[in-house]
Amino acid sequence: MKIYNTLTKKKEEFVPIEEGKVRMYVCGPTVYNFIHIGNARPMIVFDTARRYMEYKGYEVNFVSNFTDVDDKIIKKSIEEGVPAEEISERYIQECKKDMAGMNVKPATTHPQATKEIQGMLDMIQVLMDKGFAYNVDGTVYFRTRKFEEYGKLSHKNLDDLRSGGRSLLVTGEDQKEDPLDFVLWKPKKEGEPFWESAWSDGRPGWHIECSVMSKKYLGDEIDIHAGGEDLVFPHHENEIAQSECANGKTFARYWMHNAFLNIDNRKMSKSLGNFFTVREISEKYDLQVLRFFMLSAHYRSPINFSQEIMESSKNALDRIITCVDSLKRIADAAEGGCTEAEHTKLAEMSAFRTKFEEAMDDDINTADAIAAVFELVKFANTEAVSGCSKAFAEAVRKEIIELCDILGLIVEKKEEVLDSDIEALIQERTAAKKAKNFARADEIRAQLLEMGIVLKDTREGVVWTRA
Ligand code: AMP
Ligand code: ZN
Repeated sequence: MKIYNTLTKKKEEFVPIEEGKVRMYVCGPTVYNFIHIGNARPMIVFDTARRYMEYKGYEVNFVSNFTDVDDKIIKKSIEEGVPAEEISERYIQECKKDMAGMNVKPATTHPQATKEIQGMLDMIQVLMDKGFAYNVDGTVYFRTRKFEEYGKLSHKNLDDLRSGGRSLLVTGEDQKEDPLDFVLWKPKKEGEPFWESAWSDGRPGWHIECSVMSKKYLGDEIDIHAGGEDLVFPHHENEIAQSECANGKTFARYWMHNAFLNIDNRKMSKSLGNFFTVREISEKYDLQVLRFFMLSAHYRSPINFSQEIMESSKNALDRIITCVDSLKRIADAAEGGCTEAEHTKLAEMSAFRTKFEEAMDDDINTADAIAAVFELVKFANTEAVSGCSKAFAEAVRKEIIELCDILGLIVEKKEEVLDSDIEALIQERTAAKKAKNFARADEIRAQLLEMGIVLKDTREGVVWTRA
């Protein structure tokens, strides 16, 4: 399997540090609002990378953080007059709901910055002791000039960057030794959350959070570090500097970055105000459509969001769902095992899976993988028609479901729970209660809940709602 590595600007064969295991870290969102669909892109594409690696037999330790201490969170907490923690906890929960809707698997660990402060204090102290950090009036900076490899990820011309930032140093407006030095720890301002430290009562800089959480949950050296391409510089460059100077080891072997989700060819972002939240999209579409849309492009290609493209994604996904559904009906009506000819056809069908795997092995090319799924759908629509054996229709159906499942796409129609079935169960429950058979009554309530139906006993009788 090949992965494009931002560090070397090449597609490289993926070789894990430990055989059969992958240690992967994906920078997660800052939780001060509902996530927008730009934030959803790294979630979906790296969840798909994880699923594919799991399909290939790797055990993936997947860590993705929530940044829960930040200026924007503090600003929102002041606006609402509630503690910062209440804001971050609220939006972590909302983010998890969106992730579930998009069928993004929960990470092995979702660390939160505010719960890892001790690790940050420890790493900053190590950097101080080694001379990679300095304290000016309670603000601790990283000394970028001391790390010779600084800039290796972003391939930036550091001299240009330095000269751009020099004016502040000359006028004495900045206390840094070098324009590229960045904050590891900063003193609190009035009313802000803070932690005690040897340098000041304050809070960590953003970059140190990821270095520490990655170290704690995955170790000093990891296989893959990922995020959106806006994070290459300075965030990931700074993470490398901190981790490699503190730990004395290569931080991450492969760096993966997704391109932007644009709208009218500009990056979708909170600050530009040109965003749609995942929640807004979910009001109009099943979030599987959003996932399908994201995966129809390669993760390193920019994609432009529009209503039209969502409509065409919906239609395309529906073609797969309809095919799987009709295969089910064909299988239900048919009988028997595969004929000789069908066995040959199934052997031919394996070519689509090979194509799918070749695409995914080539730097997670989901666009080509989806094209292979559509070839399989075409095969299904021509070969698995009425008159075929039950075993053949089932095998074809299973193949489509399995390939889509690797992409995290659910293509089986959800069984509709009919109102009449619910009413019948409610009547049975009422009768059970009358007969003092409370065990059965409770059982029915639980059964309905599993079907997504919530019962409420009112004075007027039982009312039900869909959860
Ligand atoms: P943030 O909450 O801004 O730190 O972003 C969380 C993640 O979403 C990071 O990996 C960003 O790079 C990514 N991201 C933010 N906006 C976009 C966008 N428009 N397209 C793709 N990725 C984005
Ligand atoms: Zn990060």
